[in-house]
Amino acid sequence: MLISLKNLFEKEKSREEKEVSWDIRTFDTGMGSYPVAEASDIKVELEHTGKKNLQVKLQTTCMIQIPCDRCLRDVDVPFAISIEKRISKKNPEKKEDFEDTQYIVDDCLDVDKIIRDELLLTWPAKILCKEDCKGLCSVCGHDLNAGDCGCDREVKDPRMAAIQDIFKNADQ
Ligand SMILES: [Zn+2]
Ligand SMILES: [Zn+2]
Repeated sequence: MLISLKNLFEKEKSREEKEVSWDIRTFDTGMGSYPVAEASDIKVELEHTGKKNLQVKLQTTCMIQIPCDRCLRDVDVPFAISIEKRISKKNPEKKEDFEDTQYIVDDCLDVDKIIRDELLLTWPAKILCKEDCKGLCSVCGHDLNAGDCGCDREVKDPRMAAIQDIFKNADQ
């Protein structure tokens, strides 16, 4: 979603409020691609503080489906985004930019990019469908939350057992 800043940039101190809908249907983290199950409108407040500098307030919520790290079942993970930041149009004469300039392209504000960057920043390190999810059987792939499958998952070889311990510890 791009918001045109043409009118806003014509006059200093002008303000605009907008509600726009989500364009992002799937969110790509670079590690995987996840469907956006639900999203509220995006509330955007813009103020042209002068010289093509913007004060931007953006608020929205969404629900993204991410598989549980242990059993791979989809979990609806809620995100609440509330951002307030200064964004400037890139000025080639300025050596250093103290404000974000990557979000304005051709006098349009790239709302999707702001949201994507924020989602990446707040992306949870771990997703579990429930705190004590038992995961999948390492032998047959059965969902152990639905009961035991009777497989023998004990590793007899001591060298393999050591590796299994490493994985167990890494999981905690
Ligand atoms: Zn799970
Ligand atoms: Zn099994």
